[in-house]
Amino acid sequence: MNWLERDAASVWHGFTQMDCYGANSPVIVERAEGRELIDVEGRRYLDAISSLWVTTLGHRVPELDQALREQLDRVAHSTMLGNGNRIVIEFAEALARVVPVDRAHTLFASDGAAAVEQALKIAFQYWTNKGEQGRTTYLAFGDGYHGDTIGSLSLGGGGFGTQIFDPLRFPVLRAPAFTEPGALHTAAQMVREHHRKLAAVVVEPLVQGAAGMSIAPAGDFAELGKACHETGVLLICDEVATGFGRTGTLFASEQCGLRPDLMCLGKGITGGYLPMSATVASQRVFAAFLGPDLSEKTLYHGHSYGGNALAAAVALKHLQLIASLPVLDNVRERSAQLRAGLETRIRPFKRVKHIRLQGLMGAVELDTSDDPKLARRTCTAMVKRGVLSRSMGPVITIVPPLTITAAEIERIVETLAAALEETA
Ligand SMILES: *Cc1c(COP(=O)(O)O)cnc(C)c1O
Repeated sequence: MNWLERDAASVWHGFTQMDCYGANSPVIVERAEGRELIDVEGRRYLDAISSLWVTTLGHRVPELDQALREQLDRVAHSTMLGNGNRIVIEFAEALARVVPVDRAHTLFASDGAAAVEQALKIAFQYWTNKGEQGRTTYLAFGDGYHGDTIGSLSLGGGGFGTQIFDPLRFPVLRAPAFTEPGALHTAAQMVREHHRKLAAVVVEPLVQGAAGMSIAPAGDFAELGKACHETGVLLICDEVATGFGRTGTLFASEQCGLRPDLMCLGKGITGGYLPMSATVASQRVFAAFLGPDLSEKTLYHGHSYGGNALAAAVALKHLQLIASLPVLDNVRERSAQLRAGLETRIRPFKRVKHIRLQGLMGAVELDTSDDPKLARRTCTAMVKRGVLSRSMGPVITIVPPLTITAAEIERIVETLAAALEETA
């Protein structure tokens, strides 16, 4: 059996119809160099989706590899429940210095969805601990995406074939999608109207990633923050996708003028190396959980691998590298270049409906009305030409590593143009 057959015979791939897994020309990765993945046949692919938005500085970054090796010689993991770990403390301190959250305390987990679940439970219990009844609902946005667990799926706007779980999803107050004009204004009004039953507002600041990079104007978010502040409703910013430089600032909340009570981090937190996520809580939230030992004020929640030492070592070094290298400058410069390239080379294709880009989160939406698989086939045509890309419905996503070079941006644009020549 070849690798593809062995894969299909034993691995179940997420968001993938396994009946035709092999027919969609999957890449079977063996190793990587810089921003290129190398498959089992030795073919190279520019990783233009950053391994689903997690890779920031590229693959096999010498400093991150070194940090991981050094931590291996100390300890790989020890539990965070009631005990501490030196490297996790160091990372939490470094994180607290850069997040737009007041006197941050960080609860670690392993996946973005878990970071969101933690935030939901913390927000709910916050009000219980405060002795306030009836704050049992969340406000979330249409088209929002917060992960695939039942709680995070409930917050999400649906789609992606998740409607079969509708009977399990708990109801939320639903604000408009970012594609609706004035979505943030409407959301702020909803907060003012319904604040007595709201535990928290959950929002992806600036960009609704999984919606196909829907962007709301940064200036629109302040009104939502103000409504939360004045009514006391907790603000949860889900920066799992936008965090760690992806939109051109370390966190998108900064551009939106938001200081959340709870912030969810994941994806780029370890530069794409190891599973780690985090729920960062402000002093206001954290203080509401203080009380006698074994009392009901305690947060009874924790994951086995939360605060993994190997992940923390990489995450700490990663944060230091983002601060010391011109990563954010590169995101802004390459973003401007990518925008110009998409406008001149891709916009002229008749099938191109929308181009959206914030930092290095990009989307090209195609008119797929009479060809539902057009975006998928176009991505396959890109992969054939050595650029790894992935479609979401009618959208081709372009989410390159933050250290992408000018030549590589050109390679992505030219490859997309050649693929569209073939398919559209
Ligand atoms: C990817 C994502 C999540 C879920 O993270 P996982 O690590 O896949 O569980 C949550 N929120 C946002 C905004 C995301 O983009």
